[in-house]
This record gives sequence, structure tokens and C-alpha cells, in this order.
Amino acid sequence: MTTTHILGYPRIGPKRELKFALEAFWQGRKTAAELQSTAAALRSSQWRAQRDAGMRFVSVGDFALYDHMLDTAALLGALPARFGFDAPTLSLQQSFELSRGNAAQPAMEMTKWFDTNYHYLVPELDAQTSFERGTQNLLDRVREALAAGYKPKPVLVGPLTFLWLSKSHQSEFDRLSLAPALSAAYARVLAQLAELGVEWVQLDEPALTLELDTPWRDALPVLYGAIPAQHGAARPRLLLTTYFASVTLAPATLATLPVDGVHLDLVRAPEQIATWRDALPPQWVLSAGIIDGRNVWRTDLAAALQSLRPLQAALGERLWIAPSCSLLHVPVSLGAEDGADARLNPEVRPWLAFAEEKLAELATLATALDQGEAAVAAALQANATALAARRACPRVTLPQVRRRVQSLTEADARRASPYPARSAVQRERLHLPVLPTTTIGSFPQTADIRAARAAWRRGELRHTDYLQKMRDEIAAVIHKQEVIGLDVLVHGEPERNDMVEFFGEQLWGYTFSAHGWVQSYGSRCVKPPIIWGDVWRPEPMTVDTARYAQSLSAKPVKGMLTGPITLLQWSFVRDDLPRDEVALQLALAVRDEVNDLQNADISIIQIDEPALREGLPLQRSAWAAYLGWAVRAFGVAAGVARDHTQIHTHMCYSEFNDILPSIAALDADVITIETARSNMALLDGFGAFAYPNEIGPGVYDIHSPRVPTADDMARLLRRAAQLIPPERLWVNPDCGLKTRAWPETESALRHMVRAASELREEL
Ligand code: GLN
Ligand code: ZN
Repeated sequence: MTTTHILGYPRIGPKRELKFALEAFWQGRKTAAELQSTAAALRSSQWRAQRDAGMRFVSVGDFALYDHMLDTAALLGALPARFGFDAPTLSLQQSFELSRGNAAQPAMEMTKWFDTNYHYLVPELDAQTSFERGTQNLLDRVREALAAGYKPKPVLVGPLTFLWLSKSHQSEFDRLSLAPALSAAYARVLAQLAELGVEWVQLDEPALTLELDTPWRDALPVLYGAIPAQHGAARPRLLLTTYFASVTLAPATLATLPVDGVHLDLVRAPEQIATWRDALPPQWVLSAGIIDGRNVWRTDLAAALQSLRPLQAALGERLWIAPSCSLLHVPVSLGAEDGADARLNPEVRPWLAFAEEKLAELATLATALDQGEAAVAAALQANATALAARRACPRVTLPQVRRRVQSLTEADARRASPYPARSAVQRERLHLPVLPTTTIGSFPQTADIRAARAAWRRGELRHTDYLQKMRDEIAAVIHKQEVIGLDVLVHGEPERNDMVEFFGEQLWGYTFSAHGWVQSYGSRCVKPPIIWGDVWRPEPMTVDTARYAQSLSAKPVKGMLTGPITLLQWSFVRDDLPRDEVALQLALAVRDEVNDLQNADISIIQIDEPALREGLPLQRSAWAAYLGWAVRAFGVAAGVARDHTQIHTHMCYSEFNDILPSIAALDADVITIETARSNMALLDGFGAFAYPNEIGPGVYDIHSPRVPTADDMARLLRRAAQLIPPERLWVNPDCGLKTRAWPETESALRHMVRAASELREEL
């Protein structure tokens, strides 16, 4: 029998039950016991779904109340020392203090899990970390699954990935020195799991797909050194689990590790099967990650069977099949999309598979392999029919879009004149002071705005009444900005719930789910739109609003757009067209909008690209290709702007130093970036690189309600002025202000304007 299994399941629940229970607990509306019982019910239903789909195991340890990396750190006895908590007695309250901070300590740092939008808590290690006193959390979960009659396969972040993703605040300290102690901690946990009768453990090692340097490669045998060579009483069998890219180490190198099998991501990196098929150690199982765990499309089961059959012939029982990675990264169930609130394009719905449907796909594949296709003829037929409909759908391919992409020239992706020439014309037109002040786009999204949007969506507010409400809000924020004395204004984005969804809703080729939530961190979820067909802009999307906003002021009001890479990066993207081509289609839509805005006399247009950096491939060898097409897509969007139209772009949460040539190649007239939290450290690179165009380093950290003083901001500006010539410097906050409240926003911006005028005096 072919083994089917999954690497992890969405925790949040089909109706985001976990989110609501967590938030109720944090607000004191639910007790700890109530929260725990919601969590237990979710685990139970997730396990039932896996067993009902015939999985050989249920996944245990993938569930976490807040984050599985935090749970792993607790299990290993590696909690941040600054909190003073003892892992074995860690309370629920304390675990939330680690993840959310307390009066004395800021929360553990959070960052993106590889190239996903899931954020994990970064373990903090130091020379004193002993890994000796861990929690029982994973063992309790295993007992819970056993008691309910399931066969658990615990999943643990593996030692290489755990150490790689950890941080140390002691600058001199090399965390690799912890490898032996960490290895011993894993050996301890594995022995405990063996004692409970666990047969297999999944060790997640996505770090094996990175281009590790020599010290890290050399550390691998040490990190696995304390784990007994043979499975038995001292340890269960181990599945070395990789995903998101191809394994960068040779099979022969990994064959020396004390493990019993490997999982490969054959969706992202199908080519690696050739290497592994021939070199798989004789006793190992091979888990083929054949179903896309990162996207929402229905698997082509016939194609999957075709690639699995030779593997089955070669490996027999040693072939396992699975999704490519944990299903954490896709929504829970399509079943939730059929209610009265359904939003999905009905034509597209049959082409999709969320987590629950992917379980069924896996079951079908296994049955077809073991019993022949006739045993699942109906399921295979339904799959083939849906895919044929997708391929034949005349709305997927729009010839006019294909022709435009084909005929794009190099000149289309460039501004007509170089920056110095443009800058002269723009200065003439805009009459801005030195150190112009501006904001990034959004202003506080008040309860009033949200209520109006909700009422309009429910059909309780007439469209024109909604538009009027938005206009009233725009007029109010333009007035506020004039009073504050900003130089370049924004309309405040009240009409946008989300910077991708707002545009996606106006473009062909997009659809939206009603409940397709994916966990981002803790209780926070995102609902990415789905790009299913060629992207086409049927009519202007922002021109009316921009024209209205500009009519209210003699100062320039920026037109505000989301750039092609961010539109791509924050969506589920079709898998039947290369990403770079989808990016160009999106770029053409933005290009047409830029052109319409400039024809409506909008003098400054901002094209936001906060997601540019996060699109970087995991393997550096693939960076140049990505940056090449990403820069070209931005160029296509902005290239239509005439010399006198000033193009801004904005990026945040980013390290830029290693991609500065590409940032410069975007050739935006002005870039605004997040620098306040790093005390302008991010700007050093721009200075050293002699970044050629204008730049607005954020002087106001918008992530905190704290109001910086004019002195705080003047100090940051003085630093910036040492790195960038003042005539190319702008003054702005780090990012948009939509999550802030008005009182703090107004005082902070007043201080910012004062800081700018102080600096102008000093120049
Ligand atoms: N213009 C957007 C805003 O101000 C930019 C958001 C972002 O960078 N994430 O909200
Ligand atoms: Zn931002």
C-alpha cells in the first residue's frame, strides 16, 4: 500500500474559530479552559479529516495556539532568557507574553517563514541556553491523539532549520557552538516519543534547500550527532522533510544522517527527483510532495499518476505521497464557499482545491496507484473534466493581452529621459521646497469608514451614497493635511480595504473567496485574491477619486497605485502561465492607470511595491532572474510616465543593501522606505551605493502609537542628510497610517513638518 500523509494542516479552522477564540481570551471574554477546548475541538476535527481521507498518520505538533516555532523552542528548553520563564512550567499566559510582549519585555521578534507569508517567532539563543528543561507540549498532543484512537506522526522543526532561524543578541556569540547541546535535546525528545510508541517523526528541514555556507554544512553531522543511528527503543523512524525548493546537498551527504527517509517538494522542484531516484539510500522511504501545498489549484491527477508510477515501480512500499509542504499555507475548505455570502467566480470554483480537497486528491492518487484507476474512475473523470474546462475556458486567455505583452519593447520599460533631465522638469512644475514633506498614502481607517464599506457591501448603502461618504472623508483629510502644512498630499485611501483587493476587484482575471483565510501570524489571517486568467483593466480604477482629491488643493496630491509585483506576490497566482508573464500583464494594467492619471493632470503618481523584496527566491542563484523580470515589470508600469510626471515608489519592512542595483534600476524619481526603526541604518547602503534619485527615509515609526518629537525626527533627518544630498531628500513616515488613530497621527505629522523646517534653516 502506498502511504499517504500530510506535512501539516491549517490550524485556524474553517470559520477562523481559533482566531476568534484567541482574541476572546486575550480580551478576557473567554477563559483559558474555553480557549483550550476550542483548540482541542479543532485538532480533533483536523485529525478526523486526515483519517477519513485514509492518511496513514495524523499530523501532530503542526497545531499551535500561536506559533509552532515557539512551541518547538519551548519543547527544546530554549526560551528567551530575558523573560525569566522556565519551560517545564510555562503557563498559557506566559506563552502569550512571549508572543505578544508584556509590561517589561517586548515580544519575541517575528519574521517570515522562508518565502511564505507565515510569520514565526524567532528563537533567541545565547551562550547560556542549555536545552535541558523543555515542555511536555508535544508529548501531551501525542497522548491526546493516541487516546482518540489515531496513529500520530509528530512533526518537529529539525535541528538545522531551528538553529538557522534562531538569533542571538550577543554579538560575539556563534550559535553554531550550540549544535552538540541542541542535538542532545532532539535525542531526548525523540527517545520520549519512541517510548510513547511513535513509529515515525517528521523533522522539517527546509533549510536544506538553502545555499548553506561551509560552517553550516559542516555542522549538519554535529546537529544530528546525538541522535542514535538506528531506529528502535531510543528513537522512532525519521523523515527528513524538505520543501519550497530543491535540496542543495547531495543525496550521498544526507545519506550519512541518522534518518529513514526524505520528503521532496516535487511541485516547486520536480527536476530533483532524477537525482534522488537513483541515489536514494536502500532503506529509505521517499515521500513525493506531488500536490501543491502553496497554491489553490486542483492537481492534474493524470499527470501526477504518470510521474508517480515509475517511482512506485522502483520503490514499492517505500514510496509515500504527500502535498509538497504543510497545508498551513492554503485555505481550509472550499465547502465554506457555497453559502449565501459566496464570492468565488462559479466558473473558477471547480478548478480549485483547498486543504480539505487536497486530502481527497491524495486519497484518489493512492487508490489509483494501489488498486488501479478503475477503482477511482469517477473521481479521476471529475478531475479531468474540471481541468479540461479550465484549459478550454475562453475567458482565461485574452488575445489582446497576449499581443500587448508580446509586443512590449525595451523602450516601453524605460522612462523617456534619464532622471536628471526629468528632475529638472519636475522641479519646474511642482515648486516644492527642499526636504518636501509627504505621507505614504493611507490615513486612519476609522470605524465610520469601515461601517460605511460594510453597509455598502451588504447593499444597505447606495453606491452613490457610499461614494459621497468617501469624498467627504477625502475632503476632510485634504483639509487636515493643509492645516498641518504638508507639501505633497494624499487622498488617504479610505475607499481601500486592502491595497491588492481594491485593484483586483476592478481587474479581469481575478476572483475572491469569501472564507479563503490563511494564517499570517497568531490570530492574524490574510485572504489572498486568486488570479485565474489574463489580467485586463477594462476602465480607469482611481482616476475619478484622484481628480476629485486634486481639485481640493493647490498642492500636488499623489495618485496612489499598487505595483505589479505586489499585486502578484500577495495573490494566489495561476499556475498555467509563468509568473513573469503574469507580472507583465499586471504591469500593463498599472501602466494604463498611470497614463490616465497623468492625462487627468495628476502630477505625482506613487506605485507601491512593498512586496518586491519578499519575492526573492530562496536560492541566491535564482535572484538575478527574478530581479530582472520584477524590475522590468515595474518599468513597464512606470515607463509611460512623461518627464514631468513624478513617479514615486514605496517599500517597507525591507533590507535593501544586497539588491540596491535593482532598486536603483527601478528608476523611480522618488523612493520612500522604512528606516525609523533602524535609526536610519538602512540608509547607509543607499549612501554608500550613491543612490542616484530622490529618497524619503521614514522618520516616524508608524508601528507604534508613540508620537515622536520634532527633535527625534530632526535628529534622524540630520543623519540622513549626511548620507544623501539634501536636495534629493524627502521627509515622510515609514509607511501608511491606516492602523493609527487620528490624534497621534496629527501630532506626529505636525512634529514632522516642524522637523523639516528646522532642517531647512540649518542647510
Ligand atoms: N500606500 C499604502 C498605504 O499607505 C502602502 C502600504 C504598504 O506599504 N504596505 O497604506
Ligand atoms: Zn509600507
